Amino acid sequence: MAAKEEGPAIGIDLGTTYSCVAVWKNDRVEIITNDQGNRTTPSCVAFTDKERFIGEPAKNQVDMNPCNTVYDAKRLIGRRFEDESVQRDMQLWPFKVVAADDGKPMILINNKGEEKKLAPEFVSSMVLSKMRQVAEDYHGTTVKNAVITVPAYFNDSQRQATKVAGEIAGLNVMKIINEPTAAAIAYGLDNKYSCYGERNILIFDLGGGTFDVSLLTIDNDIFKVKATAGDTHLGGGDFDNNVVNHFVKEFKRKYKQDISGNPRALQRLRTACERAKRTLSFTTETIIQIDCFFNGIDFYSNISRAKFEELNMDLFRKCLEPVEKCLNDAEMNKMSVHDVVLVGGSTRIPKVQQLLQDFFNGKTLCKDINADEAVAYGAAIQALLLSGQCNEKVKDLTLLDVIPLSLGIEVEGGYMSVMIPRNTAIPTKIEKIYFNSCDNQTTMEIDVYEGERPRTRDNNLLGSFNLYGIPPAPKGDSKVNVCFDIDANGILNVSAEDKITGQIENITITNENGRLSKAEIVRMINEAEKYKAEDEEYKKKADARRALENFAYKIRNRVKYEKNFSSQFDSTDMKKLKKAVGLAINWLDDTEELLEAYIYQHKMEELERIYNPIIRNM
Ligand code: ADP
Ligand code: MG
Repeated sequence: MAAKEEGPAIGIDLGTTYSCVAVWKNDRVEIITNDQGNRTTPSCVAFTDKERFIGEPAKNQVDMNPCNTVYDAKRLIGRRFEDESVQRDMQLWPFKVVAADDGKPMILINNKGEEKKLAPEFVSSMVLSKMRQVAEDYHGTTVKNAVITVPAYFNDSQRQATKVAGEIAGLNVMKIINEPTAAAIAYGLDNKYSCYGERNILIFDLGGGTFDVSLLTIDNDIFKVKATAGDTHLGGGDFDNNVVNHFVKEFKRKYKQDISGNPRALQRLRTACERAKRTLSFTTETIIQIDCFFNGIDFYSNISRAKFEELNMDLFRKCLEPVEKCLNDAEMNKMSVHDVVLVGGSTRIPKVQQLLQDFFNGKTLCKDINADEAVAYGAAIQALLLSGQCNEKVKDLTLLDVIPLSLGIEVEGGYMSVMIPRNTAIPTKIEKIYFNSCDNQTTMEIDVYEGERPRTRDNNLLGSFNLYGIPPAPKGDSKVNVCFDIDANGILNVSAEDKITGQIENITITNENGRLSKAEIVRMINEAEKYKAEDEEYKKKADARRALENFAYKIRNRVKYEKNFSSQFDSTDMKKLKKAVGLAINWLDDTEELLEAYIYQHKMEELERIYNPIIRNM
């Protein structure tokens, strides 16, 4: 847990497709809207030959610039290029991913004519800096403190990488918490009926491209993840696809034309279908309207909720399989689930809710908080608690950290001997005695792993060290005391002590393997600053151009349409003004490239010098 800094503390749900930011204000959680007035922001970053876009504008230009529009960074963060999931996902992305020397995946983009390799942390940091900006605009102050959420199944490396992304975005990451835990906090399930002991909560999170089911138990304020299941490629995007295909067929039927080979038309249709899908969660019928859609045809059509459900019924039903699996893995009966919590924008779909409710024999689902906001909502409460601002409403809520994956050492035969099981609350310290595995062994190698698989080769090696100078003895006679000590920040210290000689060796696991080095992080922080400065520079130029454009058109319109404006002046002044405005507009039309701001400002002043005296005399 990072030390707190001054200022507000926000909660950020860094989603695969959409992100959301929230804060505790005026005695309640506020979901902060972005500059477009939306409560969630696409986790999308784009680069063009002129500028960089983050969020809404990045998503909107994807069809014109698919290779340089990056999304899904969350599917790459903290992973290795060789990972099966990375290899699979790469097939689906229009942007390129390559391997760095250290085996990390890097996203290849072209920015202002220059090829660049971006680490996933860096792309995520851009999304986080956007969310930070949204919060700063809302507060009117600098915002540094943040709690960021990650899926329950994220391993240590993915969590650390997410934390680094926050640091690059200039945030003080107070804590990384599990998304399902945050959703449970949002509903206050942790302090509800706490006197009855353990509470079982099923979190059903159906988002834009991923589906996660988690079973949590809350006991004495400790959240434990009992089991997770899901589908890494199932979500709102798939429902959109089915609707898109439906309209492609309809268009073919009605107009005998096939749009399926036209990416721009498809993208426009997809945007319209996503909007229609959202509307159908609240109404039973809606329209699709795309002007000048294809070969000059305006496309108007409608779709009912029933049709939408029919198109997606197989996918909706598929969502129940991971629920069963999760219950089985946790060895739990569905009757013993106390609360079912809906998370993720796609759980707003009434049919999804109904199927889930039927599965739980009509149980009332927790859906009072917007499903795509519940995670950020809980993260904001957690941020409030960590910032030490005591609040009557949430003061009873405490949250203990648990380790997400089991920790252990390798023993004979390549097996994992677990020292600290997953979900153990930290800080914690555990000691165990190990014996020599062969005669006269004088050195013992301690390999530290994290993971749930019985063989270490399937788990993740965190570090290793040797204990030397063990007195020769027959197999099983030397005793070495191994100690795992995790502090409140989750830093693991492993030591091994020879019981006879008292010789001791230890290692602090910072898990640098495959992670960004400090130097790399610093480099990215600097680069992020550079990007920010460039964005601002671009905005300054674009604003100056727009101001000149507005001014010139304003004058031209007055000259053209306001009779009493032009009739009041002798023709020399009017001619001069008309000429200057005409020149300025022609010059703007001819100069497509964005120039330095002062050039526009200078032209503006020239116009003002002619226009202002005229106005003054009116
Ligand atoms: P993430 O998967 O990134 O966590 P969200 O939980 O915000 O993202 O889910 C985003 C998905 O939710 C998108 O596919 C979006 O179209 C869908 N969605 C948002 N609102 C609605 C709604 N009212 N009805 C149906 N789907 C919705
Ligand atoms: Mg989500």
